[in-house]
Amino acid sequence: MTQPVIENSDVLVDSTSNGRAPSAVRVDLRRRAEPKSHLVDLSAMPLSGPLIDTYGRVHDDLRLSITDRCNFRCVYCMPEEGMVFQAREDLLSFDELYRVAAIAKELGVNSVRLTGGEPLVRRGVVGFIARLGELGFSDIAMTTNGTKLVEYAEPLKAAGLRRVNVSCDSLRPDRFAQIRRRGELDEVLEAMSAAELAGLGPIKVNVVLISGVNDDEVLDFAEFGRATNRIVRFIEFMPLDAPGHWQRSEVVPGARILEQINARYPLEPIQSAVIDPAPAQRFRYVDGRGEIGLISSVTEPFCGTCNRLRLTADGAIRNCLFSNDESTIRDLLRSGATDAEIETVFRQAVWGKFPGHGINDPGFLRPQRSMSMIGG
Ligand code: SAM
Repeated sequence: MTQPVIENSDVLVDSTSNGRAPSAVRVDLRRRAEPKSHLVDLSAMPLSGPLIDTYGRVHDDLRLSITDRCNFRCVYCMPEEGMVFQAREDLLSFDELYRVAAIAKELGVNSVRLTGGEPLVRRGVVGFIARLGELGFSDIAMTTNGTKLVEYAEPLKAAGLRRVNVSCDSLRPDRFAQIRRRGELDEVLEAMSAAELAGLGPIKVNVVLISGVNDDEVLDFAEFGRATNRIVRFIEFMPLDAPGHWQRSEVVPGARILEQINARYPLEPIQSAVIDPAPAQRFRYVDGRGEIGLISSVTEPFCGTCNRLRLTADGAIRNCLFSNDESTIRDLLRSGATDAEIETVFRQAVWGKFPGHGINDPGFLRPQRSMSMIGG
């Protein structure tokens, strides 16, 4: 069977689709300022072994969005009012999510992170994590805004969750309210303590810095991390906000944060013995009081070591946060597709991955979906 090589095409339909919803790698080069030489040669795609792309990157980390709904309306993510959510019947059921996770596990995925939207607003999440645990992933983690962690930390731990990242963008109650628009700082701080007590530590605290909004809190966060032994991770503001207001001038470069903290509390890089695919550049305090992470997606992209795949809550496999293309598997799941057919979509989605996210390319186009619709 000959599989095609495509260039400058909207949709590549794989000849193995057997009349079902096409298992296609959708590639739209016209919407990208990508090298024209980025060809997707499906005949060279391995049909067994790990999920690998044409640049040799092995994908073993799956971000599983279990809902696009959230009880917060963070300024960098959603509009204050009027966010439109997916109809419930369009979201994958836990049985469907479980099946996809099982297939991914067979394809070499070994870590899973539940996200959303807010994963803890979906009823049944604890039972789902317990089922995921049966699949033998080496790591099951979650990113949460923390509002429901006081209630859920212990059951989540008992179900097999290993660790949580808690988002918190200000240590000042009034500013927290201004950025997150719902919920309270104290509630999120309590959530971190509850998670630690339940054994979900060390907690990583995700902080999105926006220039002129909260970038005067860099040292406060550094001191907070040093005092609590929590790993503060400073995330650059990415062009993934639903209202589309992102401006490059609002990005606080990781290098500037490093300089500022290092001047007060000297830091040194944490060297990894192997190539570390984690998005964060890690630094430890020279005096032994913990570490920080910098996720400099805009100013220092780390695409070269990216090992991440995403499944949206409505069942689309995405090979990059910034991709304009995705491969939906919901219809396949609901029309009796075999595991092998779904495996093919996974493989093609990874094989079609671009070398980089392209944020800094002149022709960059934001993806149509925003962060909460993809799963951050
Ligand atoms: N609701 C959960 C939470 O608040 O952590 C999980 C989903 S949220 C989309 C995942 C992460 O994405 C959070 O740490 C959030 O701060 C981050 N995030 C959302 N929009 C972002 C943006 N435009 N740029 C950078 N990070 C963003």
